[in-house]
Amino acid sequence: MIPATVEQLLLVASVFWVLTANRPFFAAVLGGHSLTEVGTWGLLLATGVLLVAMHFAVLALLATRLTVKPLLALLIVTTVIASHFMSAYGVFLDPSMLRNVLRTDVLEARELLSPAVAVQLSLYALLPLLLLWRARIVVRPPLRACGVRLLALLLATVAMAGSLAVVYKPFSSLLRNHKEVRYLITPANYVWSLASVAATDARGAARPRQAIGLDAAAGSGRGKGDRPRFVVVVVGETARAANWGLNGYTRQTTPELARLDVINFSRVASCGTNTEVSLPCMFAPVGRRNYDAERINGSESLLHVLARAGVSVQWRDNQSGCKGVCDGLPSETVATINPPGFCDGGRCLDGGLLHGLDERLRRAHGSNLIVLHQLGNHGPSYFRRHPPAFARFQPECTNDDLSQCSPAEIVNAYDNALLYTDHVLASLIATLQARAGDVDSALIYVSDHGESLGESGLYLHGVPYAIAPAVQKEVPMLMWISDGFRRSAAIDSTCLQRRAAAPASHDHLFHTLLALLDVRTALYEADWDLLHGCASPQRAAS
Ligand SMILES: [Zn+2]
Repeated sequence: MIPATVEQLLLVASVFWVLTANRPFFAAVLGGHSLTEVGTWGLLLATGVLLVAMHFAVLALLATRLTVKPLLALLIVTTVIASHFMSAYGVFLDPSMLRNVLRTDVLEARELLSPAVAVQLSLYALLPLLLLWRARIVVRPPLRACGVRLLALLLATVAMAGSLAVVYKPFSSLLRNHKEVRYLITPANYVWSLASVAATDARGAARPRQAIGLDAAAGSGRGKGDRPRFVVVVVGETARAANWGLNGYTRQTTPELARLDVINFSRVASCGTNTEVSLPCMFAPVGRRNYDAERINGSESLLHVLARAGVSVQWRDNQSGCKGVCDGLPSETVATINPPGFCDGGRCLDGGLLHGLDERLRRAHGSNLIVLHQLGNHGPSYFRRHPPAFARFQPECTNDDLSQCSPAEIVNAYDNALLYTDHVLASLIATLQARAGDVDSALIYVSDHGESLGESGLYLHGVPYAIAPAVQKEVPMLMWISDGFRRSAAIDSTCLQRRAAAPASHDHLFHTLLALLDVRTALYEADWDLLHGCASPQRAAS
């Protein structure tokens, strides 16, 4: 028998898996890096340390003197099978794949378990299982065992933090481009996916969304003979307030908007630091001020409330969907509309969002809301977000891997993408303005979250809200309101300009849109309506 502590077994197993089962992951990390460079070896070493420390830490939370052997034996066998299928079929062991695997019946499984699997098992499982069987677990007094485990976890955490600091930049770039790559980390991938499937099943099938604003109705402020009202909300992507020309950024990234009569809100806080959090939150009655993800995602959105009051609503997407905000309501994607000259390989430029809008304005009647969900400054490939004519700040980063570019090149590409958003918004205003004689129109543009561009070594976004830097939480926002709309809703522009200099947040969107579209409901809170005090009182009252 070989004497070994639980921690020693876990460490040996973690190193073994990282070295034998993670070739596809290391290949993805290496992509584009040359093995002749010293930096590449540093990256490989740091990646290896990170994976070992991560696996060790998770196992150290689960394994005890009694469970360590069966736990490791099970993982040794399943990891061999898992990595065989990953290399043979190029599959990613994500939750949907695991769901497929769990639905496989015995016959299918027998066909899949080919002789190749037996060879792999004898190569990578037999010897480890034999060693595991021969190991004699060293017994420690309980208090000492706890102390050793805590110390081991602490060391693993330090190793994770240290290696993460080294790999953060190339990793954040890689994982944004190829999210699926994380499902190559074995055995963490299938264990995580299995847990995720189990958790989803436990929560039960998708429950219907809780209805909100059942009392919503058109306000009395509008009569039968009134002109159509057409409100456009442009949900921006990854635009940050710090680089917004209208906010006084040293570069003019909004030259076209600067010439128009827009109301720029210069101090706007986003609800989250990623699209998944921000999007549902901005269309909820209570967002960041009393944040509750479960309530927000389990309830209807502003769009459902407006539709209930007779507003014609439409979601038009040029990104990753409406995250439940438009469930069951009319929606379309730019890729399926496929306007000529905007799309390439399933990705479309934001200009495509405006396709056919003029026709809609011409036919508009009653109250209308259309939401345009931009691709905006979606990173890391900022240079892909604008047509060549907008590459004005040079040299710009034209590599999907940000670690291959200098900070100045990254900022140039980012600012060029903002120049294009400026152009799209100005074109949209021109379209609305051209029909302003017949249709009262308004535009609200607001970005979903900001972005880090290398400040304190951070890139992209998604840092947990509480610790996120300001650049990820401060977003540009503006309004444009046609003269006819201002008159019919008695909006005082000077008052609104004054309001725009004060702090605002995503929480204001819900209530401001209720007021703009003159929809009454008990959900309305005047304090969160940016027009409150700047529009006719009978409209602002709930
Ligand atoms: Zn986003």
